Amino acid sequence: MSAGNFDGLRSAVVDASEAGSWMEARKEWEIIGAEESVALKGVCRCGQARLRMLFTIGNRLNGREIAPVGSSCINNFLRSDLNDEVEILSRISKLRLAILDGTPTQLDGKYFSRVLVKHFEAVGVITTKEHQFLLDIFNKSASGKGALSVKQQSYLDSLTIGKIGPYVLHHPKLT
Ligand SMILES: [Zn+2]
Repeated sequence: MSAGNFDGLRSAVVDASEAGSWMEARKEWEIIGAEESVALKGVCRCGQARLRMLFTIGNRLNGREIAPVGSSCINNFLRSDLNDEVEILSRISKLRLAILDGTPTQLDGKYFSRVLVKHFEAVGVITTKEHQFLLDIFNKSASGKGALSVKQQSYLDSLTIGKIGPYVLHHPKLT
């Protein structure tokens, strides 16, 4: 993997920001779009190649956009909210491809994480009760206590088909 050079991207971000310093400028940006390259053909503006996920970032104050940006460069903004969103959008994209392929989804680290399940609750896709149920069986599954029971799998399937799927398939930030 060719390493990127973040300095150039950092300058581009500051130039497109209202603030004049990187430490302030980095707070003006949000993720407004994401795209997955299953063939790893993504190239970040910093030069890093063979990327799976590429993001478009937008400035909240002036509407300027910068793309494509890889997840490593977004991590360099040192903002936990952006890092969470990188994880959420990457997982939603993966889950969307699995649903489109007809691959059965499992409640393990392959498709789900605590951050993602919490996000589904935060945006109202699932209820607090459903969130808790998913967390319970996610914790059980993550601790290596084997596969889901038939009942758990059918509950997960019903949530995936009825609630999570429609949200994931029509996510406004995914291209
Ligand atoms: Zn980069």
